[in-house]
Amino acid sequence: MRSSPSNALQVECLEPPLSLRRQFLSDRFFFRAAQLSTHPLLVHLNNLINIIPTSDYWTHKDLPCLVKSFQKLLDSTPMWTSPGNPVFLLDYDSLVFRPNIIFSLGINKNCPNANNIFLKLLDEKWHDYLPVYTDASKLSRNGPVGSAVWIPRYKLILSFKIPSPSSVFTGEAVAIYEAVSFILSHKIPKALILSDSLSCLQDLHKFPLRSKDNLTITLRTRQSLHQCSLLGLEVTIAWIPSHSAIDGNEQADACAKQAIDIGCPSSHPTCYMQDLRNTAKTDLNRLWNEEWKITSQSSGSRYHSIQPNILVRPWFFRFHKFSKVITSSIIRLRLGHNSCPAWLAKIHILDHSICECGLEEGTIDHIFFNCPNIQLFMPVYTIFFLTIFKDRSI
Ligand SMILES: [Zn+2]
Repeated sequence: MRSSPSNALQVECLEPPLSLRRQFLSDRFFFRAAQLSTHPLLVHLNNLINIIPTSDYWTHKDLPCLVKSFQKLLDSTPMWTSPGNPVFLLDYDSLVFRPNIIFSLGINKNCPNANNIFLKLLDEKWHDYLPVYTDASKLSRNGPVGSAVWIPRYKLILSFKIPSPSSVFTGEAVAIYEAVSFILSHKIPKALILSDSLSCLQDLHKFPLRSKDNLTITLRTRQSLHQCSLLGLEVTIAWIPSHSAIDGNEQADACAKQAIDIGCPSSHPTCYMQDLRNTAKTDLNRLWNEEWKITSQSSGSRYHSIQPNILVRPWFFRFHKFSKVITSSIIRLRLGHNSCPAWLAKIHILDHSICECGLEEGTIDHIFFNCPNIQLFMPVYTIFFLTIFKDRSI
């Protein structure tokens, strides 16, 4: 309905306010561009940010989105940048090298006897390989990431602390990189690296010359793996399920948690623009939640009482079979702006707010629970709505 508050509609349909969406798109664009240390935008933004404090023009104006993105970059931990596409940091042979990756050793995620099956497998097929476990952990959203390599045969732990805003993915990639570096520097003839990060292994497996987004850490790991193969060292990387009580993996996990506090910096600079780019979405959600809390005090307060937090997906995505009429009727009920007599009287479409039954005000509560004219069908509707919204009152 025309009277529906737009801030409540945006929350209902998960369409962020335009100002926040513009900042989100600017962040995504800028953090991709800034990966290149030679990008011309950096020089212009640097000039602009020096002018702004001394200029009267910007005193009463909101700063441009790109300047805000640039400020976020300046405020964060120094990021790894390269003068060109990171693919060109590697020699051609490393780029076309196929690392030995096994995506399944035959142990399922919820296998009750995973540890015994795994140990038997190591004994049968990999007895002459050195098992090396890697894992990463992050305890808080803005906290550092702990990354660990655990080699049970030597009782050796390598632990690294990677500053925020790095992701667990980066932590896992660093752990694999450090494991390969250790194997290379100690010239271990046969090694089996065991990681529970499927996405890291997939990233390492893909062909870099066909990929749009190449992570520097993955490229470096690829280069080290190629050097291992040139020296005749056999390195295989295999995926094992996490939280399946596999001893080595559990210990690597515990080491990674400790590494958050006591880890040392990795030998490779580890803050990547990709991680900063991922913060754009969390920033958007945080700012939108804050804005919704404030704006709902002036409009959309009724809807805020049933939807205080912004959902991840709109509720109607779960009900694909609903027609547009049904969906909009439920949205009107949730927003409180609907065609019941009480609301129509409030916006001066009806002269009075009394229900057709003549007993009391035609509010949604009356129509659903007390109106004798439509009592017959209401229990069915009520059960239907309560099923959809569980304990939320409409
Ligand atoms: Zn009635």
